[in-house]
Amino acid sequence: MPLKHLAILGSTGSIGVNTLDVIRAHPDRFKVVALTAAKQIERLAEQCIEFQPAIAVVADADGAAQLSQLLLEKKISIQVLYGPEALVSAVTESGCDTVMAAIVGAAGLVPTLAAAKAGKRVLLANKEALVMSGNLFMQAMKSGGSELLPIDSEHNAIFQCLPDRFTKNPSVHLGVEELWLTASGGPFRDRALADLAGITPDQACAHPNWVMGRKISVDSATMMNKGLEVIEAFWLFGLPLEKIKVLIHPQSVVHSMVRYRDGSVLAQMGQPDMRTPIAYGLAWPERIDAGVAPLNLTQLSGLSFTEPNFAQFPCLSLAFAAAKAGGTSPAVLNAANEVAVAAFLENGLPYLSIPKVVEHCLNALPSASADSLETILGSDAQARQVANQFIHNLQK
Ligand code: NAD
Ligand code: MG
Repeated sequence: MPLKHLAILGSTGSIGVNTLDVIRAHPDRFKVVALTAAKQIERLAEQCIEFQPAIAVVADADGAAQLSQLLLEKKISIQVLYGPEALVSAVTESGCDTVMAAIVGAAGLVPTLAAAKAGKRVLLANKEALVMSGNLFMQAMKSGGSELLPIDSEHNAIFQCLPDRFTKNPSVHLGVEELWLTASGGPFRDRALADLAGITPDQACAHPNWVMGRKISVDSATMMNKGLEVIEAFWLFGLPLEKIKVLIHPQSVVHSMVRYRDGSVLAQMGQPDMRTPIAYGLAWPERIDAGVAPLNLTQLSGLSFTEPNFAQFPCLSLAFAAAKAGGTSPAVLNAANEVAVAAFLENGLPYLSIPKVVEHCLNALPSASADSLETILGSDAQARQVANQFIHNLQK
């Protein structure tokens, strides 16, 4: 395999660190040419010292000065940039052919879209980018002639269970009847909604099976994560919404499934370790060692699957409603959720207010056609404003 040149957007996060872990074991296959982070400057400096990219990007001038100083002390010369536009430069000016899109939230949209347009292979972890801009994003992939490899474990599993021809041409369904997205149900799977009033951020982030960033951990607790993933699957695989199902599977061994017309159901199984889908995306169509322990089926106590209880997870219902409404509604859903989750993590918004904020924004901002990036970013900004105002009123 020819050497791949990688830009990693969000290299200091959970997905970014796992990506570098896989890359570290395969220096003959991968060269890191750009690393980006928002605020964790020391961690980024360590990564720059180890992987020596051409470009490093941080959020602001202070961070850039701090990073430059840390690199100077080690006599390492790397171009240090900052700000949202520099994230696009990390994609378009670093000489990369592959982009790991692992920024959390809407902040990842513009550079990920730039990667799609520029014809880079996109390894997509940043599901929020696709949720916001599905149609536009898939068009950009087409016009850029690039390959989109899903990194989200469920979508990666489905990608692995689909015939190759299908993945290259999502309009040909080749007997696919349904996609089954599995969900662990998060830390509150067996608790009544009414019991969750006093939940703290640390309780919500204590996921039973996966170690992840704090925003996606809260999304897993509310099951907004699965809702975002339904919308993600809709755009990635081109199936009608009614054919995308959610199954609660507490063991997180089956990462998702495809049901075919002839009665076959194909599942992808493995440890709950993101290095598996990351390695798959990095090396596709080859397979490489991901550093993941083999799955021992004889040690499993059983696998169970149940229907989700929508009344227990209002965020899941809201996501389905936004998916059905289409247009700008998924962008509104996503922005409202980002604001609500940040307020829960940082400003004491009660856990049970998260769906209330999202519902309020969806009602206040009816769906419009999402035909341009400007419209989508406009809806995102509007939803943030409405969400913040609503939270402010709740907290008065
Ligand atoms: P994280 O919080 O651990 O890391 C986020 C990264 O994004 C960090 O490097 C951070 O510096 C950067 N970042 C945050 N805000 C930014 C901004 N405004 N501008 C530029 N950079 C910014 O998150 P994570 O858990 O690694 O998740 C990353 C993405 O991958 C999310 O979209 C998440 O939904 C998706 N994902 C994560 C997992 C997982 O196991 N962690 C699994 C599936 C999908
Ligand atoms: Mg997932």
